[in-house]
Amino acid sequence: MRIGLSIKLIGYAMAGALITSAAIGVVRVQNERVSLDELIGKAGQSVANATASGAASLVAGYDYGNLEILATNVARQANVIRVIIRNQDGRVMTQAAGEEAGTYKRFESPVVFGGETIGDTLVDISTDALEKALNTLYWRVFIEQLVFGGILGLIVYFFTASGIVSPIHKLTMAMEEAMEKGDSFVARDLEVQSEDEIGRLVSVFNTLNKSLADYHRQLHGKIDLANQELRDKNIQLSGRTLELENALDLLSAMATTDWLTELPNRRKFDETLSRMFHQSERFAEEITLVLFDIDRFKLINDSHGHGAGDEVLRDIGTLLRLHVRKSDMPARLGGDEFGVVLYHTNVEQAVLFVENLMDGVRAHAFDYDGFRMEIGLSIGIAQYDAAMGTPQELYYSADKALYQAKHGGRGRYCVYSEATPPQENASS
Ligand code: GH3
Ligand code: MG
Repeated sequence: MRIGLSIKLIGYAMAGALITSAAIGVVRVQNERVSLDELIGKAGQSVANATASGAASLVAGYDYGNLEILATNVARQANVIRVIIRNQDGRVMTQAAGEEAGTYKRFESPVVFGGETIGDTLVDISTDALEKALNTLYWRVFIEQLVFGGILGLIVYFFTASGIVSPIHKLTMAMEEAMEKGDSFVARDLEVQSEDEIGRLVSVFNTLNKSLADYHRQLHGKIDLANQELRDKNIQLSGRTLELENALDLLSAMATTDWLTELPNRRKFDETLSRMFHQSERFAEEITLVLFDIDRFKLINDSHGHGAGDEVLRDIGTLLRLHVRKSDMPARLGGDEFGVVLYHTNVEQAVLFVENLMDGVRAHAFDYDGFRMEIGLSIGIAQYDAAMGTPQELYYSADKALYQAKHGGRGRYCVYSEATPPQENASS
């Protein structure tokens, strides 16, 4: 358990005050005892003296009867226990007993007659009352000193607490408040209420706190500046990153796109063919590859110029794009050769696609510089089958069919078949 400064202080103050008070109590009781002793001493001695003077003529005249009356009368007085009257030889001439008592004190007085000592008087006075009075006194003094000590302790505590504990408490509270807020310094100065050590402690705390706050502000300024610089650099960097990303996108598009027709190029086509081929292997999906080549394209270049050839290639690209589905992969494979991977498509469906494409080409007007050009295509078709081990095998099959179409007279399509020679279909 943690004992606070207040508890310690009240303990010290009370202990000090009670010890002081107890010492005062002892001195007080001691003084009272002496004065009471003196009082009893005087009273006892005067009884003994009075008895001795009363007894003088009676002792001298050996008047035992009156001596006894005298002793009895004295013994009747309060607190007198015993009265003894003796002659000069020490023989008891008379004695009388008074009240019973526990403790007593003896007083002696000489019996003097005609200037001569002829005997003595002994009077025993009870000190019971004195002891009783002292006992009562002890208790009274004890309680009085206890109350006095307690009040003194509280007064000492109050002044010490307000002068020491309270400023320290305020100081601690201010520091705890700052810690709870997450700051390392106190937002305000603490009031210096005295010029003693505590006052100096508070003013040193204020100075330290101020320099801490200044340091904190400077540090924040530097952090803000560094953050701003970092933000600026980040903005520049993200601008450059964006440029770089755009350039990379462009580069990757350029690497996979044919610049003239804007169709995917050979590279992209090979990748897609390979992916689709393996997918068919795993899931037994139907894919069919169509390859075609423009008939006598060289002649167009030769007769109408390279620009006319380019125009034809662009138009074929557009027509091809128009005839495929989203899931298919059309591409320019190089020169005047094109290819399409038809997804989820068998030969019969591929034939329909090819016939539509050929119809489209036939219907299209290939005009260049006022000249109308007739464009024909030779087409090879091959469907994937499980016996094919690689994508290249599918490609070679379609290529064989294309070759067949060329040699069969052009302007037609051929379907590849393993068993029988490719079936020719001339376009009409
Ligand atoms: P075939 O019917 O046997 O295919 O005869 P062809 O004349 O079309 O012969 P081939 O397919 O071998 O000729 C392709 C020509 O395409 C050769 C080349 O000069 C031309 N060529 C290749 N790339 C381009 C191009 O980007 N633009 C143009 N205008 N011509 C090209
Ligand atoms: Mg050709």
